Amino acid sequence: MFDKFENKYIVKGTIVALKPIHIGKGQESMDPTEVDSPVIKDENGLPLIPGSSLKGVLRSFVERVLSSGAFEGYRSCLIVNDEPCVSDDDVKRLKTKYDKDYKKIAEEIYESSCNVCRLFGSNHLAAKLTIKDLNSIDEKTFFDMRDGVGIDRDTGTAKDGKKYNYEITPSGTRFKLHMIGDNLDDDDIELLKICLNVLKNGQISVGGMTSRGLGTIKLIDEKIYKVDKSNLKEYVSNGLNEEMRWNDV
Ligand SMILES: [Zn+2]
Repeated sequence: MFDKFENKYIVKGTIVALKPIHIGKGQESMDPTEVDSPVIKDENGLPLIPGSSLKGVLRSFVERVLSSGAFEGYRSCLIVNDEPCVSDDDVKRLKTKYDKDYKKIAEEIYESSCNVCRLFGSNHLAAKLTIKDLNSIDEKTFFDMRDGVGIDRDTGTAKDGKKYNYEITPSGTRFKLHMIGDNLDDDDIELLKICLNVLKNGQISVGGMTSRGLGTIKLIDEKIYKVDKSNLKEYVSNGLNEEMRWNDV
């Protein structure tokens, strides 16, 4: 269950910024010539969406959908509310119960975990879904500046008398998406389909100030591949090919 190869889903495609994006560096620059809140860039000065940012918003989206009860039989815990499906105490109890039988402990953690933690991972469970950092595929980006008067850069809420500017990546910027799902079962695949559909429909926003309309992205030109035991040999010898395409979404 944990160490055996079952399958691998590989999603490749282009993410387009429908609205300008602000993904801040998270740290204020000490350089007075720089803007107050620059965006994250790669070593070539091009914008970048950290895979963890995209994964985080997809996770929250799936959590909200499952918590609504719209998908019967699927569970989601509320990690943000400090109500995880498997708590630290649960894990301690399992360790006492099964002593050094780590396989058994891991199995019980997996069984007790909600559908979201099983796919996206938790403190006690490795994620099955990985999203690589999304580099821009454009040759050049002309960053724009916005005036953030009265807006707190962390919370996006109004703050008196505070004045600063922030940098934005313009709409139309394109990024390369590379998402991998390892050993997905039918439930995981349902959640992966939700993620892909909301990305294709332009329902996901990344970065800061999304409540002010920033950050909306859309997936286009996606190609999804499925590698399983039947084509694993071909995949490890020659990589992906058209016959590995998976169109069940
Ligand atoms: Zn959970």
